[in-house]
Amino acid sequence: MGLMVRLSEKIESLSREVVRRDEEGVLWFKTYLAGEWFESRESSLVYSPIDTSVIARVPRVSYEKMDTVVDKIYRSGRWSARNTPGHKRLEILGRAAELLRDYQDVFTEVLVVNAGKTLAAARGEVKASIDRLERADMDLRKLLGDYIPGDWSDETTETESIVRREPVGVVLIITPFNYPLFDAVNKIVYSFIVGNAFILKPASADPIPAILLAWVLEKAGMPRDSFAVATVPGREMDRLVSDKRIAAISLTGSTETGERVLKTAGVKQFIMELGGGDPAIILSDADLEWAAQRVARGIYSYSGQRCDAIKLVLVEAPVYEKFRDLLVGELRKVRVGDPRDPSTDMGPLIDPSAADLMIEAVRDAEARGARVLVGGRRLGPTYVEPTLVEADKTIVRSLRLYREEIFAPVALITRVDTIDEAIDISNGRRYGLDAAVFGRDINKIRKIVRLLEVGAVYINDFPRHGIGYYPFGGRKDSGIGREGIGYSLEYVTAYKSIVYNYKGTGVWEYL
Ligand code: NAP
Repeated sequence: MGLMVRLSEKIESLSREVVRRDEEGVLWFKTYLAGEWFESRESSLVYSPIDTSVIARVPRVSYEKMDTVVDKIYRSGRWSARNTPGHKRLEILGRAAELLRDYQDVFTEVLVVNAGKTLAAARGEVKASIDRLERADMDLRKLLGDYIPGDWSDETTETESIVRREPVGVVLIITPFNYPLFDAVNKIVYSFIVGNAFILKPASADPIPAILLAWVLEKAGMPRDSFAVATVPGREMDRLVSDKRIAAISLTGSTETGERVLKTAGVKQFIMELGGGDPAIILSDADLEWAAQRVARGIYSYSGQRCDAIKLVLVEAPVYEKFRDLLVGELRKVRVGDPRDPSTDMGPLIDPSAADLMIEAVRDAEARGARVLVGGRRLGPTYVEPTLVEADKTIVRSLRLYREEIFAPVALITRVDTIDEAIDISNGRRYGLDAAVFGRDINKIRKIVRLLEVGAVYINDFPRHGIGYYPFGGRKDSGIGREGIGYSLEYVTAYKSIVYNYKGTGVWEYL
């Protein structure tokens, strides 16, 4: 690969108060803690998945420090957020969108170099983040309450209530490595727009987008004491997660992390977007070429490191061979390589252990009688081939590729004789995020839609959550709650009933 990967000097043009470069070209970042750009002697290394070289160091914030930060946010920051009127909160998010647009080249480069995204995927994530910030008014319009008249019982006549939603206070936002900018933006939009303060805990693999986002939010005028970026390793998070001053946790991550956080946190409100990996069902009347192209994209885009990636392809017997060969053809065309090269379709995995895991899962499948149709090889420490593994329906459920979420560009393909079989095999996985169905027979499609235990079904396309214009979220081990514009407010707000008593005042003259 030649020279070690480095972020260009564009990043320093963004802010020298946030980042400096040492003689080896490694960037030293501060992090934002409720009004202070914080440096610490303890730091964590940040690698580029492109060649596994160290590109940056970020502060490793101790619990003692976080304790003072949480205190500041709890005592004053949550009131600063709440007492900023809704129209001003919208203006702040609008200005943040403008700043993201001004610095889109910097953010794109960071997503390519720190997260290993292709240029097209990185540009897409920056654009989605800008769009999400600009659509915050759509969330605000969903911030509705109720009016309840009291004349339904003797006891409540001459009283009435309004039921309003109010911010819970401090939201702990925990984001995964695969959408380090968009997931943070999305969770910040729905938490802040209703008046919450927040602490953002980014994934240790790629914390740079979150730190730069804090710089943007500060410049955009977000109340300075109302937010922080906690660069704390996940394994040191238990005390923060269980902190009573935090009222809600919005986590996107693996099911294992979600379960641990749920056990540790105690009584709080939760939104949990957890593990996934989706089935795609191909009916015999589907447009097979279109389906093969879209399913291939669903398997390899961002190297299969998407919660909504396709991991299981179930094909009706009459078209099985034809579809399988078309899909193999599509996967063979994928150009794997350096994501900085615009002709690359698929870049690296986030770290070498992700590639180890994929290769082990493919070997496990082969040992149990499955067959690799395309791919299956490692091309470098973090690079693998897009891979399709054929498994008979009698063995598919025993494979790790079926039982676990292998976060890599690999899927199983299985022949089914009936749609009931396809539904059964799909529902047999522990996850229930989304599914895709390709075909024309509306009755078959409708039945499949009715019976799949998932949060969203995509008909004639591969699952993609996009900016959440259509809400998404998991069932079973895939999570709790929904993300999507307007749909997440209920998890970061609390109802308050205000009951007015006018008894004997003559407001009402009942018969
Ligand atoms: P992960 O390892 O579970 O980490 C997610 C976040 O949780 C990271 O910030 C991590 O910090 C933190 N964390 C780990 N242990 C923690 C603990 N005990 N307490 C609090 N926080 C903790 O997941 P990932 O590998 O980054 O992301 C991939 C996963 O996210 C996949 O399972 C994918 O399906 C899921 N995902 C789901 C959706 C959805 O919409 N359902 C969307 C995107 C991704 P460290 O990095 O410091 O460990």
